[in-house]
Amino acid sequence: LVRVEGLHKSYGPNIKVLNGLDFTMRPGDRTVVIGPSGGGKSTLLRIMMGLEEIDSGSVTFDGKPYISSRGAGRKTDIDVRVRRSIGMVFQHYTLFPHLSIVQNLVLAPCKVNGERKAKATERAMALLERFGLKAKANAYPSQLSGGQKQRVAIARALMLDPKLMLFDEVTSALDPELVAEVEQVVLQLAKQSMPMMIVTHDMWFAKNIASRVLFCAGGVVVEDGPPEQVLGNPKETRTKEFIDRVF
Ligand code: ATP
Ligand code: MG
Repeated sequence: LVRVEGLHKSYGPNIKVLNGLDFTMRPGDRTVVIGPSGGGKSTLLRIMMGLEEIDSGSVTFDGKPYISSRGAGRKTDIDVRVRRSIGMVFQHYTLFPHLSIVQNLVLAPCKVNGERKAKATERAMALLERFGLKAKANAYPSQLSGGQKQRVAIARALMLDPKLMLFDEVTSALDPELVAEVEQVVLQLAKQSMPMMIVTHDMWFAKNIASRVLFCAGGVVVEDGPPEQVLGNPKETRTKEFIDRVF
């Protein structure tokens, strides 16, 4: 589904974040990305979402070129049609505060895809119902709990029928008692075989959702394998040290 090859990314001349990162994702893979703070996990997801320029390397999606670079400091080529098939949810809810929940959901489908408002609203209500949020359809983001807002953010991303979902620490800004309700929504999507990449520091969640785990440090993939290996019995010393320290 996704092939990332030789990805290099720096911010200015002194901050090298990615140093030739490679990995592939097969259809149906749920890839959990772990690694030290500042290791480039968010940068990787932002690149996958087409939000960052790259220095070199490429990303292909469904066998087609998606992101490629013309060399350091030059413009990055991004296929916007592919980008539209990828959804992302961030650590901090990014709902539009001046729009109601249902308006947040129908905005992009109507504006980007030209979907009729009645049709989009019907789909939005079905998603909200599925996520236990139907009663909040006409509320505003400020009237929701953090966990509810994150569930709305996930529903909003799903409105565009993504072929891949990216989750960047979607529970780490939440009060502990709200974490489970958001993780359950992501687990529910996983059951429906939605391909996803997930950055998380939550070991329980990582073990329960991953079909594959990447340990990224120093801008490269240090270890890549099934969760039983990378989380349970890592081959690389650096992975082991990280797991022992963090989880
Ligand atoms: P965390 O676990 O803390 O979220 P991360 O693995 O997601 O870390 P990134 O956010 O990708 O790490 O950041 C990688 C490095 O790039 C960090 O050193 C960070 O300071 C730097 N960085 C990120 N964004 C920018 C930016 N816009 N300008 C300059 N430096 C940046
Ligand atoms: Mg991050």
